[in-house]
Amino acid sequence: MTIVDTPERRQLRELTRAFVTREVLPHLADWERSGEVPRSLHETAARVGLLGIGFPESVGGSGGDLLDSIVVTEEIIRSGGSSGLIAALFTHGIALPHIIAAQDEHLIDTYVRPTLGGTMIGALAITEPDGGSDVAAIRTCAVRDGDHYVVNGAKTYITSGVRADFVTTAVCTDFPGSGSLSLLVIDKGTPGFTVGRRLEKLGWHCSDTAELSFVDVRVPMVNRVGPEDTAFLAVMQQFAAERLSLATQAYATAQRCVDLAVRWCRDRSTFGRPLASRQLVRHRLAEMHTRAEAARAYVHEVAERVARPLQLGASGAAPRPGAVGGQPVVTEVAMAKNVAVAACDHVVDAALQLHGGFGYLRDAEVERHYRDARILGIGGGTTEIMNEIIAKGMGL
Ligand SMILES: Cc1cc2nc3c(=O)[nH]c(=O)nc-3n(C[C@H](O)[C@H](O)[C@H](O)COP(=O)(O)OP(=O)(O)OC[C@H]3O[C@@H](n4cnc5c(N)ncnc54)[C@H](O)[C@@H]3O)c2cc1C
Repeated sequence: MTIVDTPERRQLRELTRAFVTREVLPHLADWERSGEVPRSLHETAARVGLLGIGFPESVGGSGGDLLDSIVVTEEIIRSGGSSGLIAALFTHGIALPHIIAAQDEHLIDTYVRPTLGGTMIGALAITEPDGGSDVAAIRTCAVRDGDHYVVNGAKTYITSGVRADFVTTAVCTDFPGSGSLSLLVIDKGTPGFTVGRRLEKLGWHCSDTAELSFVDVRVPMVNRVGPEDTAFLAVMQQFAAERLSLATQAYATAQRCVDLAVRWCRDRSTFGRPLASRQLVRHRLAEMHTRAEAARAYVHEVAERVARPLQLGASGAAPRPGAVGGQPVVTEVAMAKNVAVAACDHVVDAALQLHGGFGYLRDAEVERHYRDARILGIGGGTTEIMNEIIAKGMGL
């Protein structure tokens, strides 16, 4: 029995599978066409206890830790869901953690509880039209005016930004590009804050993605998350959970595509024999399965270290910056993301090829995974940025 295979987590898998079968599969194709998932899905996911997994009950969550969130992600994809669905339904996984970490009761009551209850949708806006990899170079600025900030700038590629009731927004609180960052929670409907465009994409079709514009937007100072100018470190620390979620989506997508390909190769005959009887095909499937399994094992190993409770140093000092859950795993998280994304890229391509012409059709589930997978090496920090982190971790 592995750490993600306890009796409680098996129950969580069953709950997730039942949710996907009943609430997602009959509608996913429609949501892919309409470009978003309905609000009612958030309410249903909250009612069955899935939306709040990984969030403490004290802030309205269902309890559980990172490993429980991983179980939910794995099972959604294994049951026929998709990484796009996870991006749309669980955007709060990136929009809320900074607010919870800041322990601000006003913000927790106003935004966290309703979001985990399924009645509000949040988004996280860091990336700007001028660039996303260099977070310190953010140019959207907030200038103090009495008990408000006045925000000007633009954000782009923001997941759930079209539907979001609020956006946890990274702003510069000194001169543009200074790296002095703060996070402000900005409400939909605040004068000057508009969704400029709903962006059309290669994949993740059921997840809406927005371009946001801020023109003299007045945001109350009480909507600042944590102390001024401390958001850079907060953003970097929360990236670990986002990257592990994307890594999980990557190996889970790979494993689902292995399952789809195995089924297809058993059923499909060419030249009088099932594809699965050909040694070339069998070896290809074996290699796909091996890559998905190896990625899963490594991501689990890193996730377990991240999930360990905060350990203070012998002196009682807080862990050094970059540590997550007390464990300095920033480099390992970057490696886990790259390993899982590489496995996924290989497997989705091979799985589509094994499906032949059918793999290229909208009717084929593997076609959706092939398109959806491409973002996993871009979002939450690109493969190249992960390599930069790994190289630094090697002392280079
Ligand atoms: C569907 C989708 C959803 C997204 N959701 C969100 C969201 O909810 N919130 C949010 O804030 N952002 C979101 N993003 C943005 C995403 O995080 C960024 O696209 C990503 O971080 C890369 O930033 P960029 O696109 O500006 O690329 P750039 O930073 O311009 O990089 C372009 C290319 O150059 C490479 N590169 C950059 N710097 C270096 C270097 N030093 N050395 C070598 N290569 C380098 C990159 O790896 C990349 O290949 C989303 C993006 C997409 C497509």
